Amino acid sequence: MDPVRKVDFDSEACGSQTPKSKPCPRPKPGEAAGGCSFDGAQITLLPIMDAAHLVHGPIACAGNSWESRGTLSSGPSLSQYGFATDLNDSDIIFGGEKKLKESIDYIAGRFAPPAIFVYSTCVTALIGEDMDAVCKEAGDRLGIPVIPVNSPGFVGSKNLGNRLAGDALLQYVIGTGEPEPETPLGVNLIGEYNIAGEMWDIEKLMNSAGISVTSRITGDARYQEITWAHRARVNMVVCSRALLGLAREMESRYGIPFFEGSFYGAKETTYSLRQMAYLMNDREMERRVDRLTEREESRLAQDLRPYRKILKGKKAVLYTGGVKSWSVISALKELGVQVVGVGTNKSTEDDVRRIADRVGDDTEYIPEGGASRILKTVRERKADIMIAGGRNMYVAMKEQIPFIDINQERHKAYAGYEGLLRLAKELTYSLANPIWKLAASSAPWDKEVPYDR
Ligand code: SF4
Repeated sequence: MDPVRKVDFDSEACGSQTPKSKPCPRPKPGEAAGGCSFDGAQITLLPIMDAAHLVHGPIACAGNSWESRGTLSSGPSLSQYGFATDLNDSDIIFGGEKKLKESIDYIAGRFAPPAIFVYSTCVTALIGEDMDAVCKEAGDRLGIPVIPVNSPGFVGSKNLGNRLAGDALLQYVIGTGEPEPETPLGVNLIGEYNIAGEMWDIEKLMNSAGISVTSRITGDARYQEITWAHRARVNMVVCSRALLGLAREMESRYGIPFFEGSFYGAKETTYSLRQMAYLMNDREMERRVDRLTEREESRLAQDLRPYRKILKGKKAVLYTGGVKSWSVISALKELGVQVVGVGTNKSTEDDVRRIADRVGDDTEYIPEGGASRILKTVRERKADIMIAGGRNMYVAMKEQIPFIDINQERHKAYAGYEGLLRLAKELTYSLANPIWKLAASSAPWDKEVPYDR
C-alpha cells in the first residue's frame, strides 16, 4: 500500500465556486452546519457494505452521520454497525492511539471484514493522533487493509469530505486487486450511492443493454469490486462533482475515459446509456442501447399519460444540492412541471450554468437556505409543491404546502425510466393528498359556536 501522488485540489471538483486555477477555498465559519467533511467522507464510503467503518473520535461524531441516509444493501450489513473509539476526556489528554489499535483488533477478530476504514474527526486531528501509522501497523499485523480516511470535520464542507474519501480510495484501494478472468468488464458508476435502491434500477437497465457494472463506487458495493475498478472500460460520474477528481485521476493513471451523467429523467437516462456504449466503442452495444431506450421511452410515455395531465402547468420550488438541482429540473420538465424557484447554495458555477440552460428567465434562484427564504419564494411565486430535503419537510407540513423529499434520506427511487414514473406518481399523490387542506383548516375548538342554537 505505497502512497501514491495525491491529486491537487481542484476548485471544480471540490464543488466550490472559485476559478479553476485556485485551490479549494478555506472553510468559512458555519460551513459544516449542513454536514461536515467527516460526514461527507462517510456518505461516500459507508455504502461499501461488507467493510467495517470505525470512527476515531467522540461517539457524537459517529451519531452525526450514522444511519441518516437511505443507502440500501442487497446483502451484508456490517457497514451499518456504528463502530467508534468513543474518546473521552482522559483519551484527549493522554492520547487515543492505544484505544484505536484495540478497536481495530476487536473488529478484525470479531467480524473478520475484508477491510476496515478508519475516520479521523475534529478531536483526533486536533490532538495530533498519528492515525496513518496505527492503521499501517494494524494492517500489516492483521493482514487486511486498514485504511485511514483523513477528513476531519473542520477542514470544510460535506463536498470536500466526498472528495477526500475519493482520494482515500485512489490511494489505498483502487488497483490493489484483480477480477476473476471471466468477470465482464464495463462501467464504474462513481457517486451513485443506491439511495432507496436506485442503483438496482440502473443496474437492471444497463444489464438489459448488455452493459455490465464493474465497480459500484460505492452504492451497495463490496470492498473487492473497488480494488479492481482500474480494469473498467468507462467511468461514469453520477451526480457528484466532488468525485470528478477521482475519475480524472483514473483517466490519467489507467486511461479510463469518463463522462458526467445523470439518471434523473428519461432524456438524461437515454443520454447516459448512449454515452456508455459510445465510449466503449462497441457498435453492437450502441444498437442494443438504441433499441432499449426507444422501447423504454415509448412504454414510459404511455404510463405517464394520466400523470402528465394532472401535473402539466404545476409550479414547483426545488431546493436541493449540487448536481441534483439541474438534473431533477430535467425530470420535472419532462413531466410538464414548471420550476419557479431553485436553490443554488450548494451548486458550483457550472451547476448554475446548467440550471440556467434548463429553466426560464423568470425562475428565482435561492442562493441561501433557511426555511423563511424558501417559503417566501413558494408564496410569491404561487408554487403548488415544494421539492426539497427531509429537513424542510416539517416546514412544508406546518405551512400546508404539498411536499416531496428529494434528498439522500428519501425512501423512493427516482432514477431511470421507472424512477421518472415513480416521481410522477409521488408528485401527483402529494398534490392530491387531503392532509394539506385538513391541516390548513381551523381546529374545532377555534371555531365560533353561535349562542342561539
Ligand atoms: S468531525 Fe467535527 S464537525 Fe464533524 S461531527 Fe465530529 S466534531 Fe462535529
